[in-house]
Order: sequence, then C-alpha cells, then structure tokens
Amino acid sequence: MGKLIDLKLLPTLAAKSDANWRRFLVKNKKKLEGMDLQVHALHDKISKRTDCLSCGNCCRTLGPRITDKDIDRMAKTLRIKTSEVMAKYLRVDEDGDTVFQSMPCPFLGADNYCAIYESRPKACREYPHTDRKRFYQVYELSIKNAYTCPIVYEVLEELTASNPAKGL
Ligand code: SF4
Ligand code: SF4
Repeated sequence: MGKLIDLKLLPTLAAKSDANWRRFLVKNKKKLEGMDLQVHALHDKISKRTDCLSCGNCCRTLGPRITDKDIDRMAKTLRIKTSEVMAKYLRVDEDGDTVFQSMPCPFLGADNYCAIYESRPKACREYPHTDRKRFYQVYELSIKNAYTCPIVYEVLEELTASNPAKGL
C-alpha cells in the first residue's frame, strides 16, 4: 500500500489542479470518449496501492443516494422493516432524494469498516466511479469527487499528465 495523501491537504491540492483538469476536458472531449481502458488501468493501479480503510473520507462526508432496492437489502440484513430503516437511518432531502439522516454514515465504524458492507447501497459500491464505462460522462463529477477521494485525485492527475492538452 502506498502512502495516503493527507486528507486535510486534498481540497487544496485538488483546487490547484482544478483548472488544468477542466482545460483537459475542453481540449480532449472527443478523445476522452475512447479512453475508458486507460482510465480503468489507472483506477486499478491506484486503487491497489490505496488503503480505503485508512481513509473512509467518502463514508464520512458524502451522502450516497439510496434507492428502494437498497432499503430492502438493508432491512433484510438488519432484520428490521423497511419503514424502520427509513425512520431510523434515512431522510428525504430537499431534492427529493433518500439519503442518510446525517453524515458520517451511521454504519461506518471507528476502524472505517462498513457494518453493512455486503448490503451497502449501490452508490457506495460504485464509488468512486473511475472504473465505470463511459467515464467521460462522469468526468466533471470526478473533478468534484477529487476534493474528497484520493483515488479520484490521483487518477485525474495521472490521466491529464500522460495526455497533456496542447497549448495548456
Ligand atoms: S453504507 Fe457503508 S459504504 Fe456506504 S457510506 Fe455507509 S459505511 Fe460507507
Ligand atoms: S473510495 Fe476514496 S474517499 Fe472512499 S475510502 Fe477509498 S480512497 Fe477514501
């Protein structure tokens, strides 16, 4: 495992690169559509050397959007009714999305383990999205995520460094 980027410094580091990442998108919009393999290889390499258990930043700060299927799965695992899952852990936010009542997530342990790991919401399973198909569709979201997630920060740094946009 590599050394984790200092989470306190991450927003400052991401802010420094933000404009460069956005310029890369403007100059490589079409090219980015064919770059999934390269992005996924970076994701695999960087995820392997990153210890999420010594980070937990996403589970502490970002609220995943929770679907009805997620609630069903959580209810089964917790052996309670879906209405109880809703009442105990969830709320509907101002956009009408179902989210955790508060963050850090109530299922995050002090050791950064997830107490419902096998039944965690789909959004948690898919985070940080740097291995998803058609990565270009979440490129801008990834810039936002890079302020929170060291994996996304490093993927964007390496991607833009290895494909410098002419005239930056
Ligand atoms: S459910 Fe688990 S993976 Fe999802 S935010 Fe909570 S602790 Fe993290
Ligand atoms: S996915 Fe990113 S933010 Fe979440 S624990 Fe792993 S490195 Fe940290």
